[in-house]
Amino acid sequence: MPLHIATPCIESHPLSQAAGRRIWLKLENLQPSGSFKLRGIGLACDTHARRGKRRFVSSSGGNAGIAVAYAGRRLGIPVTVVVPETTTERARALIRAEHAELIVHGQAWHEANALAQSLLGEDDAFLHPFDDPLLWQGHASLVDEVAQSGLKPGAVVLSVGGGGLYAGVVEGLRRNGWGDVPVVAAETQGADALAQSLAQGERIALEAVTSIATSLAAKQVCEQAFALTRQHPTRSATVTDLAAVTACERFLDDHRLLVEPACGASLALAYANHAALGDADDVLVVVCGGVTATAEQLCQWRIQLVML
Ligand SMILES: *Cc1c(COP(=O)(O)O)cnc(C)c1O
Repeated sequence: MPLHIATPCIESHPLSQAAGRRIWLKLENLQPSGSFKLRGIGLACDTHARRGKRRFVSSSGGNAGIAVAYAGRRLGIPVTVVVPETTTERARALIRAEHAELIVHGQAWHEANALAQSLLGEDDAFLHPFDDPLLWQGHASLVDEVAQSGLKPGAVVLSVGGGGLYAGVVEGLRRNGWGDVPVVAAETQGADALAQSLAQGERIALEAVTSIATSLAAKQVCEQAFALTRQHPTRSATVTDLAAVTACERFLDDHRLLVEPACGASLALAYANHAALGDADDVLVVVCGGVTATAEQLCQWRIQLVML
């Protein structure tokens, strides 16, 4: 039994109305860990456990770290998550709630990550948040479920941080014979490592990430993701932080589901019927989810962003 669940794929009436075409939602926010991350991380943790690993180590204070903590609890394997001091109290509490050991170390992620790496013994497995073929293989299962349902979308919209979800969805499209279905890669301005890489024709690293969408905050997409943009029909689109937050608020009212701005970036493209959706009649939006934002915080972000 996998650690993730098969999620519903529903047609959204409000989004379809807004976009003037059918918008389908793959509800990854319903995963027990609150995001799609559990598909890939669950498969990776399961695989490491079967290979005899006795502890899982992560340096993600976001949905990846939470997914590792969840997987470890389910498998009965101890988990250590090392996060920097900037990690919110909410994220810390969510990791602790899964009974993981939480170590807070350093001012920035690279310091926390360096400590996590130094802790690794022979029987430990390190779980990367996006750059791992096992993760991509796990994420691909979301496309298998859509294919089994009989729906072939004309385009798939998803959010891009380090590109693990993108690499997994492309793998899933290919293994279902859907190599012709374009992927629309959504990012927020200030976390647009993929859009800038595509514009420059090489995989660039951002100097700094300025977006509030912390789950998209990788400075650089993984090599595999960038390589796939040259093999698979891919369109890139960026939205402002305010558009992402507004989409989250609208989605909360429309579907009574609360997601992070990282996910709002994809929803914003659908609400706006963005040109990147092309001429597809049926568009699948991967509702990637995320548990680190609250309704209160969405409201505070809106106030901050409107004043900018
Ligand atoms: C991790 C994450 C993303 C980005 O996924 P990548 O694999 O890093 O591109 C988007 N949304 C949410 C909610 C996430 O947790």
